[in-house]
Amino acid sequence: MKFSIDMKSGDMASEPTQEIIVGIDLGTTNSLIAYIENGVPKTIKSSHGQHALTPSVIHFSDNEDIIVGEAAKLHLSDAPDKTIFSVKRLMGKSYGDIVNLKNSIGYEIIDSEEQELVKIKVGKTFHNPVTLSAEILKALKADAETHLKTQISKAVVTVPAYFNDAQRQATRDAGKLAGLDVLRIVNEPTAASLAYGIGLDKEHNTNIAVYDLGGGTFDISILHLEDGIFDVLSTNGDTLLGGDDFDRAIISFWMEQLNLSHETLVQDTELNQLLRIAAEEAKIAVGRGEIYNHKVRNFSLSLSNEIFENQISPLVERTITCCRQAIEDSKLKIADIEKVILVGGSTRIPMISRRLEEVFGKKPDNSLHPDEVVALGAAIQADILAGNRKDILLLDVTPLSLGIETVGGLMDTIIPRNAKVPQRAGRQYTTSIDGQKNLRVSVYQGERDLVEHNRKLGEFILRDIPPMAAGLPKIEVHFILDADGILTVKAKELRSGVNTSVEIRSTYGITEEEMALMLIDSIKNASSDVQQRALLEAINEANNIILAADKFIVQNKNILSPEEIHQIVQLTNELKAQVQAKNKDEIELAMKTLNDYSSPLAHKALDINISKALKEVSVNDNNL
Ligand code: ADP
Ligand code: MG
Repeated sequence: MKFSIDMKSGDMASEPTQEIIVGIDLGTTNSLIAYIENGVPKTIKSSHGQHALTPSVIHFSDNEDIIVGEAAKLHLSDAPDKTIFSVKRLMGKSYGDIVNLKNSIGYEIIDSEEQELVKIKVGKTFHNPVTLSAEILKALKADAETHLKTQISKAVVTVPAYFNDAQRQATRDAGKLAGLDVLRIVNEPTAASLAYGIGLDKEHNTNIAVYDLGGGTFDISILHLEDGIFDVLSTNGDTLLGGDDFDRAIISFWMEQLNLSHETLVQDTELNQLLRIAAEEAKIAVGRGEIYNHKVRNFSLSLSNEIFENQISPLVERTITCCRQAIEDSKLKIADIEKVILVGGSTRIPMISRRLEEVFGKKPDNSLHPDEVVALGAAIQADILAGNRKDILLLDVTPLSLGIETVGGLMDTIIPRNAKVPQRAGRQYTTSIDGQKNLRVSVYQGERDLVEHNRKLGEFILRDIPPMAAGLPKIEVHFILDADGILTVKAKELRSGVNTSVEIRSTYGITEEEMALMLIDSIKNASSDVQQRALLEAINEANNIILAADKFIVQNKNILSPEEIHQIVQLTNELKAQVQAKNKDEIELAMKTLNDYSSPLAHKALDINISKALKEVSVNDNNL
């Protein structure tokens, strides 16, 4: 049995829209926004700086104004408690996840429950990574609107390949808050490949390594491209390694030369800041083949490329170790990797290309600006979504979870939200009543625990299951979500092979707004959902135990004493009453009491039945 549902919001991908969809690289250090002009991806200059890069820094001024970007970065040294950087590191994280990070951050992170999401305190106000990221997105959106002289409301946003569901969802939510419909979340290495034109030709199947060294993080991803679909074969990296560490290595070298102590720098924050700026300048200058000479106060600073490379060599080798591990995990041979792409500002350092050429046996491609490629690729993906490149279909994640209704009206997710598309997943179910002949399969979409709060996509009945005791049939339900977002659901009883051929076809549309509402709903109701799910699960378990107890009495009435039977009936009745009363704790208590009483009896009955069975076998043997 199978039916298909078109879950796509409809014409978005097929009808070219006039509205511009932007591509956004929401980075740890720098963020960028890009769009397609006459078929060519272009980044948009920040209104504050002369670059396209907007530092991912947010400053709260004394009168609570919010400043983002270059201007905010200036306050990192004079108001560290009100200037937030690297907020991407906190996305979708709980306190338990970030204990190691706390020391390297100048602003205040609130300690609370380990599982709770991180909050940041600035003055008297609390912020969270989603609202802060939304500020960065708002600034980018405003820059784009100024430049393009039109309203922007749709975007593609990139995230690291290793981002989990919570982190991807947090990124989407930040977009919503900034007034942007995030049409698609794309992996950064995928976007970078797109910028290089890889993935635009469906016929071209290949393997690519994407080496991304930014300001504070390093990622290596090995991608496999087949039929226009990117597969992440492996990722590796170091979330605490990047260009900032190279700057620190230079500062350490200067401190040694100038006999400056660590304490001096801790006390003299201005000097510290000046050295940081000089170190970054020096790093860029030596990479261009210059020798750096500069005076900060009365200190003469100098740096040559040779010294720089010596200083950073151990750090670079750490990235190489990660690359080797990623290659090993991808199960590819080095020769199978057709292209190495450089991403992130720090890959402008010549030593990096040199070392990568030695490891991969080919020159890495750096023909595009490494700090822009991710945003450029996001713009290309946006253009594809806008329907301007009809021949290409790149889908990577499904926006809402897909699942079926199980006993008690619970949602059982089969394909989770943000799962890669195309995707297939299946699960086995069984019947809950003896001799059950039909099984209704109802398909839902959404994040809530109870199906009644989710969106029903369709339903069908698997008929003519041969009569069997409850729990015996093995019914496999399979979800197949193809690259067009079309869902096919199949159900089959494995023991009998029953698998009827009724087909339901229906088209369902869902708008971005509805999707957003469903997600917001699921966040708002998360805790009440958890309680309700726990109650329903307790009721389901209790009903199973009640059935089992009834069966147990019928099957063992010759073994059990009248008192024992009476006691089991009484405890079962008590459990039934608690199920009626719908009190989870009382239900669990009644289940435990019944279980504690009946399980020694069950053991005894089992022993007697087994020895009886053995006797029968030996009698049969004698008869032979
Ligand atoms: P992220 O991905 O972390 O947001 P970027 O890709 O923008 O960051 O990289 C920022 C880092 O790149 C900074 O540490 C910066 O100093 C470094 N960087 C930028 N240009 C150069 C260059 N020419 N040489 C060396 N490092 C550079
Ligand atoms: Mg980056």
